[in-house]
Amino acid sequence: MFNKILIANRGEIALRVLRACKELGIRTVAVHSTADADAMHVRLADESVCIGPPKAADSYLNIPQIVAACEITGAEAVHPGYGFLSENARFAEILEAHGVKFIGPSAEHIRIMGDKIEAKRTAQRLGIPVVPGSDGAIETEAEALKFANEIGYPVLIKASAGGGGRGMKVAHSPDDLGEAYATARAEAKAAFGDDAVYMEKLLLTPRHIEVQILGDGKGGAIHLGERDCSLQRRHQKVWEEANSPALNPEQREKIGSICSKAIADLGYAGAGTIEFLYESGEFYFIEMNTRLQVEHPITEAITRIDLVNEQIRIAAGAGMSVTQDDIEFKGHAIECRINAENPANFTPSPGMITYYHPPGGLGVRVDSGVYQGYKIPPYYDSLIGKLIVHGRNRVECLMRLRRCLDEFVVDGIETTIPLFRKLVDNQDIANGMYDIHWLEKYLDTKPFD
Ligand code: ADP
Repeated sequence: MFNKILIANRGEIALRVLRACKELGIRTVAVHSTADADAMHVRLADESVCIGPPKAADSYLNIPQIVAACEITGAEAVHPGYGFLSENARFAEILEAHGVKFIGPSAEHIRIMGDKIEAKRTAQRLGIPVVPGSDGAIETEAEALKFANEIGYPVLIKASAGGGGRGMKVAHSPDDLGEAYATARAEAKAAFGDDAVYMEKLLLTPRHIEVQILGDGKGGAIHLGERDCSLQRRHQKVWEEANSPALNPEQREKIGSICSKAIADLGYAGAGTIEFLYESGEFYFIEMNTRLQVEHPITEAITRIDLVNEQIRIAAGAGMSVTQDDIEFKGHAIECRINAENPANFTPSPGMITYYHPPGGLGVRVDSGVYQGYKIPPYYDSLIGKLIVHGRNRVECLMRLRRCLDEFVVDGIETTIPLFRKLVDNQDIANGMYDIHWLEKYLDTKPFD
């Protein structure tokens, strides 16, 4: 096992990783920008290193500084959290070249999954169902027309290098296909420096369902069930559930075992998430994330397995602590992402937290790095914490969530908590009847006016 791990992240996820390290008896190194000198992950770590000014490009994304911090402190491994350098294959390679273990999959696997055309091709080869579409990049408008005729309208043109929901264009008929194709290519070039695009059938009312997997890198892999992340705004997840209200145990087992078999065949090492759109009983692969996800705690709640602990064990060569037979799904869990934002229009609300009282009690977990008197800096994303609630069933979980949202006090800034208070009382949510467009349509009704 490692003696010392450097955590190349900030906020709640840095704290989350730090907790797993401490429980394993591993010493921790925090890195931070000058804006985060007072952050909780810095206070709780055994050592800390300032790696640069506030701007992420100069600190949390500054690879030479992070490598230097490993050398100064003697850290043997780096946990990248999510975001920042977590899906940067070059970072993984540079660390390995310096004799530091990257806690995550191989650079090769990060690279394959980071290129959407390559990822889709690989998924298909491994027996994972994919959205009908072009086999690879579409080079000409004529080719686009040919594929669209084959799969049927509406179609979606997607950037191979895309991310964060950018670089996607819809065409409803041959008349708008030419323009959709040209603008998707131009936007992809401008945003990602790569104008490769491909085509998929546009699914109209899908849910977003993702499967959590763990691979030991030696041909062993398991799945830990799914998460339903259909409640999204601008392709950003807002509320997640495990298990999905839309699946029964047979469907869960079927898609889970397809994923674990694929991951075993790939020889994948570490935690990963295979994301699908789910419509009319069918799963369609959209992408794989080769890292820990923001919403991983709901899987931990229903399986009682510490995913960060497993990531560290796998990276250290100790293998997973569990087999597929040990995985049992108990009850239901929901996560609400608490952002420092106005709940009606989502404008960021950085500043000083003047009073902070998180909820507690049975089945309640709050992952957050904030505290009373903490000043949220304006430089980073607005997630300040996650409320994760577990119940023996979905009804108990929703009742507990409502109770927790009533207890939760964050004064001095605006947060998205009032939005969750509305959602938890909504009939569609209570019934589990929502697709990926539900939340935007709901927000269009101006619930705060
Ligand atoms: P990104 O990496 O940019 O997030 P994804 O491929 O994961 O791109 O897609 C982001 C979101 O776009 C999905 O969660 C879904 O809401 C929507 N989407 C992607 N592909 C399709 C499709 N074929 N049909 C309908 N919606 C899609």
